[in-house]
Amino acid sequence: MKSLPAILGALLVLSLPAVAQERPIVLKVGTALDGKGRIIRNTIIVVHGSKIASIGGAAPSNAITYDLTGLTVSPGFIDTHAHIGYHFGDDGRNGGRGESPVHSMLRGVDNAIVTLKAGFTTIQSPGQASDKELRDAVARGIIPGPRILTSLQPLTETSGPPDKLRELVRQRKQEGADFIKIFASKSIREGGAQTMTDEQLQAACGEAKAQSLRTLVHAHSAESAKAATLAGCTSIEHGAYVTDEVFDLMAQRGTYYDPNIGLVLQNYLENKPKFLGSGNYNEEGFAFMEKGLAITRDTFRKALTHKNLKIVYGTDAVAGAHGRNYEEFIVRVREGGQDPMKAIESATSISAESMNMQDQIGSLASGMQADIIAFDGNPLEDATAVRRCVFVMKGGTVYENRHLR
Ligand SMILES: [Zn+2]
Repeated sequence: MKSLPAILGALLVLSLPAVAQERPIVLKVGTALDGKGRIIRNTIIVVHGSKIASIGGAAPSNAITYDLTGLTVSPGFIDTHAHIGYHFGDDGRNGGRGESPVHSMLRGVDNAIVTLKAGFTTIQSPGQASDKELRDAVARGIIPGPRILTSLQPLTETSGPPDKLRELVRQRKQEGADFIKIFASKSIREGGAQTMTDEQLQAACGEAKAQSLRTLVHAHSAESAKAATLAGCTSIEHGAYVTDEVFDLMAQRGTYYDPNIGLVLQNYLENKPKFLGSGNYNEEGFAFMEKGLAITRDTFRKALTHKNLKIVYGTDAVAGAHGRNYEEFIVRVREGGQDPMKAIESATSISAESMNMQDQIGSLASGMQADIIAFDGNPLEDATAVRRCVFVMKGGTVYENRHLR
């Protein structure tokens, strides 16, 4: 019979090759944007396991090497507002009719895969109950997809007392929500007026804060955005009619602004027959969305003049838009007039900070998650380069490597 130390010794030897198999990865870089406004040139990024071990220095001798010189490297992009489960059914209609939950879920998986391949390594879904299953399946590392955070079912309660909202916030937390999504105004198609009272907003955002949850608030009118800002909510979504006065207030309070000017309305208009007649999508709404393109663009331009306003990168991607989340970037730069480096920071470090994840994602630095993408072209010189994401690594795993080098 072997002694205990001998057995332990044998186990140690057996376990060594498994550890040694996890070889470090070296990415050879010509040009990298670090997500915080800096450009890094001619270096290597060393990845150990799921994290960036170092930038620069000597390459480990046993590393697997990817040559990304000639591409533009960036932290994985983040979409703070993507409805990852929304899809067109087999009938070609928004949501699909008579679908089984399993079928719907597999469409969500399609969305997750194309989103990741587009270079988005983290998204926030605001949200539906089935997001939880998809989030957890991706987190298990089997289904390729972006890291998913979800609000689960949003809060739309406007009739009950403020306490009702506090209760709903606690309920979402218990159900496993990562943050809370609140509807404080009507849709842009319906004018965007405030629907939730100031007291209800204070209750919802106050209780969420007490539960350590962030709050994303759908608010189009200036008054609804102002009320949400004063209630201490984390982020104003859409905000098509926000005024200079309210942008000032948001900048002062550190409230994030999530304009969606480059994908969602364009996608509705391109796919009009698939949406028309479902939900609140009617001819009147579509006529309004045509006008909405200019309204949202002009409000975004106004937002850019408020230097301290923190603008995150959300697209409000719905059915038909997943995997094209980068279009928002192009419109922000080309039509909105945003400095491309600032637009990169918005899609990386600023969005990460808005999610309280700035220590894990959104920039290239040692100790960060190895969420690293590369474009064929440089988005600082040609905004459309973001359509050509040819390398995707998430948490140290390479999911896409399409460049011919
Ligand atoms: Zn939305």
